[in-house]
Amino acid sequence: MTKPDLLVVGAGLFGLTIAQRAAESGLRVVIIDKRPHIGGNAYSSPDPTTGIEIHRYGAHLFHTSNQRVWDYVNRFTSFTSYVHHVHTSHAGVVYPMPVNLGTINQFFQAAMSPDQARALIAEQAAELGDKTPSNFVEKGISLVGRPLYEAFFRDYTAKQWQTDPEALPASIVSRLPVRYNYDARYFNDSHEGLPTNGYTAWFEAMIADPLIEVQLNTDFFAPGHQWSKEATVGAIPVVYTGPIDRYFDFNQGELSWRTIDLEEQHLPTGDFQGCSVMNYPDLDVPFTRILEFRHFHPERDYPDDVTVIHKEFSRFANRDDEPYYPVATADDQARLKLYQEQAAAEPVLFGGRLGMYRYFDMHQVIDAALTAFDEQVQPRIAAGQPFGEAGV
Ligand code: UDP
Repeated sequence: MTKPDLLVVGAGLFGLTIAQRAAESGLRVVIIDKRPHIGGNAYSSPDPTTGIEIHRYGAHLFHTSNQRVWDYVNRFTSFTSYVHHVHTSHAGVVYPMPVNLGTINQFFQAAMSPDQARALIAEQAAELGDKTPSNFVEKGISLVGRPLYEAFFRDYTAKQWQTDPEALPASIVSRLPVRYNYDARYFNDSHEGLPTNGYTAWFEAMIADPLIEVQLNTDFFAPGHQWSKEATVGAIPVVYTGPIDRYFDFNQGELSWRTIDLEEQHLPTGDFQGCSVMNYPDLDVPFTRILEFRHFHPERDYPDDVTVIHKEFSRFANRDDEPYYPVATADDQARLKLYQEQAAAEPVLFGGRLGMYRYFDMHQVIDAALTAFDEQVQPRIAAGQPFGEAGV
């Protein structure tokens, strides 16, 4: 394509959604990605020997209560009836996670009713007094009391974040529901499922439009090609979904990210752990969880004598690692503000988990992209205005 109406940097869900909506409005779009595939960290592909679909960058479970997002994604794929459940293996015993009445009764070896369990946790959380929980520890204790916090959250979080939990935002622990009944679903949302034919088929359907051209293995920051930063910014509208600090050459210092190392094993059994995700919240186990991918698709005809697992090891990301999770300490937030001020002066829209430095789930990214398209991308292109100012 010679000169498109829009360049999208990054083929993750933010970029794909912007590109799809733009093409649907008649705009010509080029998407570039430095990786050899689309889908960002939601990318999956079949294991070559077993055919089992492997989420290449950690488990991705689609769930949303946002009807606009649910209607939108269903244009490109149907979803299976998979409902996510997680178990956690603490001190040699397996419990259901998130914390529910089953977890509480099993942990305290009790047969409490919902009201009794509520009263017990309230009594344990009373150590906080009138304080409004302002960080991960306080929020955790306020939700489940200290004994459950220490068993299931403290050390898992130490492994996952390697950051003083008092410096972590309370919002991280609020991702998990706490239930005083035996409902052990991981998510509370009204819609949930996995894309029937896999994540990649879903993403390919989003960009199956002749107005969209995808260039893989293309680095925005490498000079000397037509889609580079130097050749495009200011010349065509750009939506950038890479790390915001990278865009500005880290001129305010680096934002902190966690990355994940995955250790893959093929095991000669049809069922290694009996569920898709088993958490390991104790410090004597170096990984945080084990994924067994066959359980994401019980409806598929996978071989019954072999299974594929990933052990997840979390660590701080260096510049060359794939960023997964924004740590978002107070220092990070202060730095982010400085980057956002620079972003506002740039003729570029910043979006997605990396571009906005937000611990977004897939459905939140799609929602943000749909809004950004309607409120920023389309009106500005229509008016011939440069991007920038408020960012996305
Ligand atoms: N968490 C925990 N114990 C668990 C599961 C989660 O302490 O068994 C905490 C941990 O800090 C984690 C956060 O809750 O980072 C959010 O968990 P979630 O499963 O949503 O994380 P993700 O799947 O995005 O890695």
